[in-house]
Amino acid sequence: MTPNQPEQTNVTGEGQGRGAALPLLPTRELVLFPRMVAPIFVGRQKSISAIEAAFAAQSPVILCTQREAAVEDPSFDDLRPVGVVARVLQLFKMPDGSVKGIVEGDERVRAERVVESEPYLVVEYEPVESADAGTPRARSLARRVSEEFVRYVQLHPQLPDEAQFVVQQAEGPDALADIVAAHLRIDLGEKQALLEIESTRQRLTALLESLAEENAVLGLEAEISSKVQERIEGQQRQLLLHERMRVLRDEIEEAGAEADEDLAGYAERAAGKQLSPAARKLVTRELAKLRQAPPMSPEVAVIRGFLDTVLDLPWGELAPAGVDVPAVGRHLERTHHGLKDVKDRILEYLAVCRMRADVARARDAAGGAATDAADQPATILCLAGPPGTGKSSVARSIADALGRPFVRVTLGGVRDEAEIRGHRRTYIGAMPGRIVEGLAKAGVDNPVMLLDELDKLDSDWRGNPAAALMEVLDPAHNHAFRDNYLETEYDLSRVFFIATANDTDAIPDTLYDRLEVIRLSGYTLPEKLAIARRHLLPRVARDTGLGPGDVKYPRGVLQSIVRGYTREAGVRELERALRRVARKVARRHLEDGLALPVVVREDELRGYLGEAFWLEAELPRRARVGESLGLAYTSDGGEVLTVEATIARGRGELVLTGQLGEVMQESGSAAWGYLLSHVERDRDLRRLVARSPFMTPDGLDLANQDVRVHVPEGAVPKDGPSAGLALAVAMLSALGGAPVRPRVAMTGEITLGGRILRIGGLKEKLLAAGRAGVRTVLVPEANRGTVAELPQDLTAKLHLVYVASFKEALPHAFGEPVVRGRAS
Ligand code: ADP
Repeated sequence: MTPNQPEQTNVTGEGQGRGAALPLLPTRELVLFPRMVAPIFVGRQKSISAIEAAFAAQSPVILCTQREAAVEDPSFDDLRPVGVVARVLQLFKMPDGSVKGIVEGDERVRAERVVESEPYLVVEYEPVESADAGTPRARSLARRVSEEFVRYVQLHPQLPDEAQFVVQQAEGPDALADIVAAHLRIDLGEKQALLEIESTRQRLTALLESLAEENAVLGLEAEISSKVQERIEGQQRQLLLHERMRVLRDEIEEAGAEADEDLAGYAERAAGKQLSPAARKLVTRELAKLRQAPPMSPEVAVIRGFLDTVLDLPWGELAPAGVDVPAVGRHLERTHHGLKDVKDRILEYLAVCRMRADVARARDAAGGAATDAADQPATILCLAGPPGTGKSSVARSIADALGRPFVRVTLGGVRDEAEIRGHRRTYIGAMPGRIVEGLAKAGVDNPVMLLDELDKLDSDWRGNPAAALMEVLDPAHNHAFRDNYLETEYDLSRVFFIATANDTDAIPDTLYDRLEVIRLSGYTLPEKLAIARRHLLPRVARDTGLGPGDVKYPRGVLQSIVRGYTREAGVRELERALRRVARKVARRHLEDGLALPVVVREDELRGYLGEAFWLEAELPRRARVGESLGLAYTSDGGEVLTVEATIARGRGELVLTGQLGEVMQESGSAAWGYLLSHVERDRDLRRLVARSPFMTPDGLDLANQDVRVHVPEGAVPKDGPSAGLALAVAMLSALGGAPVRPRVAMTGEITLGGRILRIGGLKEKLLAAGRAGVRTVLVPEANRGTVAELPQDLTAKLHLVYVASFKEALPHAFGEPVVRGRAS
């Protein structure tokens, strides 16, 4: 094609002296920017000729926008002079004769003058170059433009999110300005204006303004559209709410009818109670509130909860109150085996109650001042002893014999004062305290209330429950006990309180002073067998639906159960074991037609109860070095504990490990102190360490040795000094390498001079020793009197040796020839 020849010439060869010339393509709807690729539609013949010539010659064209789009054949003056040199990448001929091309902008130019006007415009041009593209100001502007642009893309509904990444391709501020400008959805005039700005800085500034303006508008639009959305949703929600309201209203109407009945019910209950004036006022007030409260409101539940609590309380209702002491005695005798002392003490206590009540009644009858003498004396009965020894069941028997309801309030683990005194009603989920709750359960104001596990009360930041309990138990105050939830006073003075505890040492002193403590100790084997036969077996049979004689135990078998399947001071585990056997018998009777009565044989025990877990063989039967058996008194009864001592390389110190309290540590020091000062001086002691590896011609050398004493965990003895004797024996054994005789247990406090002092809890300790299979027990001489008071069947089985000094214990502990034993 010839028409493009002149331009070729212009571009390549004849540029000297004049500006370079290129064909010009007037555009109506496109402002091309440098570096931008865009499709172009060309319909006018002149323009088709121009672009076809350029494409054929692989020459660029200049794109300039028309000032007026309507002008069909624009002359030079009809064009904006600033345009872009573009390369024609592709060109397609369309069926209607027009062409479609793809052009890529190159550089910004100014068309200077027309060189030719036919068959298309050819113009001379000058590059338009920015002088400030590389300045820092331009760079920082570019950064801001690119940030605004990212926002713009995000806000613009028609721009795909990927568009924001094009700015990353920009090489420098000038390129960035062009790319951003090309992507802006602004009108042609504005685009052209941007194109014409020579300075990059100014262009960026203009872009920034445009972008900010656009973003503001777009942001506003987004906001408005979300508001519109909300409004639409709001209308739907309202419809929904109206529907719900309608359903609710129906429900409320129904509930309203119920509420009226409710109110009437409460009013009736209140009328039937001997409420105190204050309580009546409260109830009236709450009823009024209830009447006004919307039926479905949460307040209603709170008010009802309160009314129920108040109206469940007995308010003066009493069980027949007489105390028939002999009748109680007979009942206790029927329900509980043994416990002679305990029963005596209880009856004495009840006798005092009876006397006080009689005196008070006589005074009332004589027209004296009305007394508020309570049923109970100033002290509260407290049954103390190991678990399963019958504390709760004795208390229940007392209640039965007195003909009063029995309620149990467990105090174990109570830390929060509010558990005793109630929560204020302003708390969510507030409740009355356990005492008030117990009374509601009892239904009378004078039940027997068991305060179980008084020793397990705890206290922390939530207040001091023991102090609250003091108030409950104090006869001077408990006629006007104030529970926070009730908000009014309640008379507790007629409640017959009985407390229980495992370990009286753990009861706070203030409380302890109020108690009349009656101790229950563990049972001996014969006692357990008798309790089982007379009380546990009949009850178990009854509970299982078996006849009283349907499961028979020969004596030896019952004994094996106690020995092999229980290890306790009381009889709780025993009762559990008997229940298991009874259940299995009942099942086999039903399923396999096992004939009743059944006699349980020794060899069947495994089938009924599994492997026996406590075997006497547990205690070592051979003499051991460095090991002795101590006896501890714990809140669960007694316990045999193994004391282990070793001599190990060290710095001549005594190291005690395991579950050792402070007092036990001191016992250890006393024992070691005694040994160190006597082992070489005393003939008997010296003999025992004669073959010690630490013996030198100058005597024992322990400068580089520690003695370590360990009491294995598991046995958690109460902290007491009575392990001293066992500690000393284990240490001496370790020191001299002399083995301690097996199955010899010992108890006694040791002094630095080697005297053995009196100890407590002997009965529990001897019971434990018997259970564990101990043969010989070394007991302080000072305890001889205590032993005399213990049941024969307990002491007869054990070989008791009384010792007044450590030296007297030696022959029995170490099996040396008995020199001076004080045999029992
Ligand atoms: P505690 O309150 O001391 O832990 P319990 O009163 O719960 O013990 O006694 C456990 C079980 O042993 C109860 O079934 C109880 O009746 C029974 N029991 C304990 N001692 C005797 C006894 N001396 N005579 C009859 N049954 C007893």
